[in-house]
Amino acid sequence: MDKLIYTNCDICGNDRTVAVATQKDYKYVECQQCGLVYMNPRPGLELLNSMYATYHQRNGKGADAWDVLMKHNFKQVALMLNKQFPAGGKMLDIGCGYGHFLRIMQKQGWKTEGIDPSPNTVAHALDAGLAVTQTTVDEVSFPNSSFQAVTMFYVLEHLTEPLITLKKILEFLMPGGLLVMRVPHTTPIVRLLSVFGIRNNLYDAPFHLYDFSPSAMTMLIKKAGFESVKIIPGEPTVPYSDIEKVISLSSGYIAKLLYGAGGFLLPGISKTVLAYKAVNTDL
Ligand SMILES: [Zn+2]
Repeated sequence: MDKLIYTNCDICGNDRTVAVATQKDYKYVECQQCGLVYMNPRPGLELLNSMYATYHQRNGKGADAWDVLMKHNFKQVALMLNKQFPAGGKMLDIGCGYGHFLRIMQKQGWKTEGIDPSPNTVAHALDAGLAVTQTTVDEVSFPNSSFQAVTMFYVLEHLTEPLITLKKILEFLMPGGLLVMRVPHTTPIVRLLSVFGIRNNLYDAPFHLYDFSPSAMTMLIKKAGFESVKIIPGEPTVPYSDIEKVISLSSGYIAKLLYGAGGFLLPGISKTVLAYKAVNTDL
C-alpha cells in the first residue's frame, strides 16, 4: 500500500479538524472552520485510481442494479433539464457508468457525452453506441461553454479536489448552464450509530473522500464561482436487496415529505444539488 497523504480542508484550506469516525482503518474528520467532513489522511492517487477498475461490479452487482437504484432520480433530473432547456442541447454525464442516464437523455433529443474511469462500464456503454470516453474529470478537457448541462450522480464525494473540479466544470458550461449532482450525506447517521457503538462503513471507505452537509455544499459551490445553488432531497434510491430497499425508500419518502412540508432537509439522506452558472459571465 502506498503512503497515506494528509490534506487541508478543500473548502477553506484550514487544517484544524476533529475526529468524526474511523471506517476500515480510514479516519474521517470535520473541519473546525467550515464543517466539511473528509477522509484524512487518504491513499495516494495511484492507489485510488486502481481501486475503480472493478468499482461498479462490487458485491456481484451488474449493470441492472445501478439502473434500478437510480431510476427515479434519473427520471426527475431528466424532467428538470427538459424544463430548464426546452430546446434540449448538449450534456455531459461525468461518472456515466453504464450510460443509463445518457441513453435516457439521448432518447429525449439531447446530444450526450459521457466519461467514466472504469474500463468495464465504458466498454458496456460503447457497445450500446453511446459517446463515452474512459477518463476522469481531472484529466479530460473540453472547450469553454461546451454544454448546457453537466450531471454527476454520486461522483463528487469520490474526487480528491472538489473545488478545483467544480471550477473546471463551470468553464465547460455555457452561460446560464446547469450542473446537477447527487451526493450522499451520511455523517448525521454515522454519528447516531456511533452513540450506540454500532460499527458501519456508511462512508464506503476508502471510496468516499468527502461527505457534504447542505451548508458545506453551498459554500463549496459558491466558492467555485456558480451564481446560485439549490439543494433538494431528490427521489429515493431503490437498492437491489429487499432490506436495503425498505430502508432507502422509507427514509427517502420521509425526506421528500418533510421538504415538501416546510423546506426541511432531512439530515443523513442523499441530496440533489442544482448549481447554476450566471447568464451574464462578464459581470
Ligand atoms: Zn474548512
